[in-house]
Amino acid sequence: MPKPSAVVFDLGKVLLDFDYGRVVRRFAAESAVPAREISTLLLESGVLHAYERGQISSREFFTRLQSATGFPGDYATFAEFFADIFTEIPAMISLHADLRARGVPTYIFSNTNDLAVPHIRARYPFFSTFDGYVLSYEVRSMKPDEAIYDAVETMTRRKGTELIYLDDRAENIATALRRGWIAVHHHDPALTRERVIAAGLLD
Ligand SMILES: [Mg+2]
Repeated sequence: MPKPSAVVFDLGKVLLDFDYGRVVRRFAAESAVPAREISTLLLESGVLHAYERGQISSREFFTRLQSATGFPGDYATFAEFFADIFTEIPAMISLHADLRARGVPTYIFSNTNDLAVPHIRARYPFFSTFDGYVLSYEVRSMKPDEAIYDAVETMTRRKGTELIYLDDRAENIATALRRGWIAVHHHDPALTRERVIAAGLLD
């Protein structure tokens, strides 16, 4: 098998853990709507999906959540706590740093939004050290849809086994495998590192 020449990283649950429960609890504390309803609204109603597909703006996303919950805070308050849901996964940030030290090109490939990314860029220095970023809200397509994988191949100028991709979600891995990428269903940093070593990119 040819050796891949670039590593594509999913972001959430690969490099940064996240907990939308923090957002739900904050909304519930400041509105009359129970946490369970807020969780359904945020995670299952399709509003976050529309936002991360770039179909609605950050302001409209806020307005929709505000009108459904009666949240009394302003947009700036919301923007601050909505994005503050992340914690670093040190073993994976180290894996990325080791690849950079070896001169391996690396890319971020994420379903995400325009509130999270500026927050992450400001708070986590590792995020600014990739060669490129394929972000769902910019591309207006989300994993596991094929169109956003096209965007990765265009940005990296690579395809098939030239790419090794790390993602925690099976459906995202499935599309990558159909396209012939080397794809690692990430669960455990030590096992993922072994796969990257086996691909010939690290010792
Ligand atoms: Mg993920």
